[in-house]
Parts: sequence; C-alpha cells; structure tokens
Amino acid sequence: MDLGIAGKRALVCASSKGLGLGCAEALAGAGVNLVMNARGAEALEASAQAIRDAHGVEVVTVACDVTTPEGQAAVLEASEGADILVNNAGGPPPGMWTDWEREDFIKALDSNMLTPIAFIKGLVPAMMERGWGRVVNITSQAVRAPIPVLGLSNAARTGLTGYVAGTARQVAGKGVTINNLLPGIHATDRADALDGGVAKQQGISIEEARAQRASTIPAQRYGTREEFGAACAFLCSQHAGFIVGQNLLLDGGGVNLTM
Ligand code: NAP
Repeated sequence: MDLGIAGKRALVCASSKGLGLGCAEALAGAGVNLVMNARGAEALEASAQAIRDAHGVEVVTVACDVTTPEGQAAVLEASEGADILVNNAGGPPPGMWTDWEREDFIKALDSNMLTPIAFIKGLVPAMMERGWGRVVNITSQAVRAPIPVLGLSNAARTGLTGYVAGTARQVAGKGVTINNLLPGIHATDRADALDGGVAKQQGISIEEARAQRASTIPAQRYGTREEFGAACAFLCSQHAGFIVGQNLLLDGGGVNLTM
C-alpha cells in the first residue's frame, strides 16, 4: 500500500533502538525524511546511517536526552517544519507503591507525559497552519490494564492519554491527528532487561524467562519492532486521517479485554 507520505518530514524521538527505531525504519520505507534522536550518539548514528543506506532518505540526528529542556530545544530546532511527530522515551523503573516519592513522580511525568506534550505544543501549531499533520505517542498496554510494579509508568502514561483525548479533538479540524500506540511485550532491549531480572530472581535462563512470558500472550510470542513500526507508519499515512484520539493496543491479545 502506498502510504502517500513520501517527501514528508518526521521527528522520531528515542529512535536508535527498539520501538522508536521500528517507527523510523517504517516511515523511511514510506519515503519520509527523518530527524532521529537518542542519548547515545554512536548507536544513533549507526541506526541513522543504516536507514540512509536502506531507504535513501535524509536523516538528521540529534543526540540528547529528550526529557530535558535543553534536549527538547535542540530537537525542536532540528525539526522545524516536521509533518509527523512520534513521541517516545525510556520507561520509568519498576518498584513498590510505598517506594516512590514526589521526585520519582516528577521524573516519570517529565519522561512520559510532559515531554510528549512539549513536542506536541512545539510542532502541532505549524502542522495546523499547513492543514496536515500526524502525531503518534508510544505509550503502553499499562494504560488499559495497570502493571502494578510499574506504578510510575501507569500514572504518567495515563496522564498523557487524558491530555491526548481532549487535544486530539481540538486539532483534528485542521487536518492534524493525534493517536497513541500501546505496546504489549515486544522483543527489544527493554524486554531483555526485564527478562534478565526475572531470570536472576527465579534462577532460570533468560531463554526460559522469555518462553515463560511468551506463553502468557495469546499470540504465543513477543511482537517485533517491524510490526510496531508498520502500525505507526499507517497511523501517519494519508489513509489514517479519520482516526482521531485512539489508543491502539499492539499486544498479541495479551490484555484480556472485550473492547
Ligand atoms: P529500548 O529498546 O530500550 O529503546 C529505547 C530507545 O529510546 C533507545 O534508542 C534509547 O537510546 C532511547 N531513549 C531512552 N530514553 C531516552 C531519552 N531520555 N532521550 C532520548 N532517547 C532516549 O525500549 P523500547 O522497548 O523500544 O521501549 C520504548 C518505550 O515503549 C518505552 O517507554 C517503554 O517503556 C515502552 N514499552 C515497551 C514495551 C516493550 O515490550 N518493549 C512494552 C510496553 C511499553 P539511548 O539509551 O541511547 O538514549
């Protein structure tokens, strides 16, 4: 399917690896020029070069922490005129509800709520003026069904979801859509880190921990970054202009819901 977005420009935050990289690759495959970001410059540049080589699109890299005011300013400067925004950043650490203090919540809110809002505020007004834009926020399945040890993530991402629900309806009339993609378990470094923790805790191998977790997913496997990226690229396509303020679970059926 021709997504109809060749020649457009996208900012994909936190995209040297994992789900963000999947989104960058899929958009580049549709002919979209990119601004890519991550903190680690080496992995970022390697991923950017692989995308330039594979797809022949322009890729600008901005190595910085996207959750800081300085990082946001640098990324916004490089992304002027972007038609597409994919919001992403690392997730907060697990823990117990009794452990978290105000500072922990502020950090989680900065990463997973206030940073995406800052980019929406930075880029959406110009998209509205041009009459076309797409925003996709990478959130989590935890928005639909809480993961108790990820209370900081549950809280921050649900806050963003509430903001998007109203804002998406305020900007849709100018041709700009805002939607959220909710990953379930995907085979990325983050999943490896979580499986490594379980393996250590239970005295089993990481392969056993992975198989154990995969068996809890109806699809009996983890998602891939390619599948995730393809869904993101579709939401950014010409065909998705009537999809507004939605929360799309990509979880192999893992969250047990009727709707
Ligand atoms: P990942 O494989 O660890 O990749 C994270 C990417 O984001 C890397 O490129 C990393 O590069 C970059 N990054 C992290 N923090 C950043 C920051 N502050 N500023 C700029 N770049 C940053 O993670 P992932 O699995 O793709 O997860 C992406 C998001 O989806 C996370 O919020 C995660 O919690 C959420 N999620 C993932 C899953 C899953 O199964 N994978 C499930 C539910 C939700 P640097 O480290 O070099 O900055």
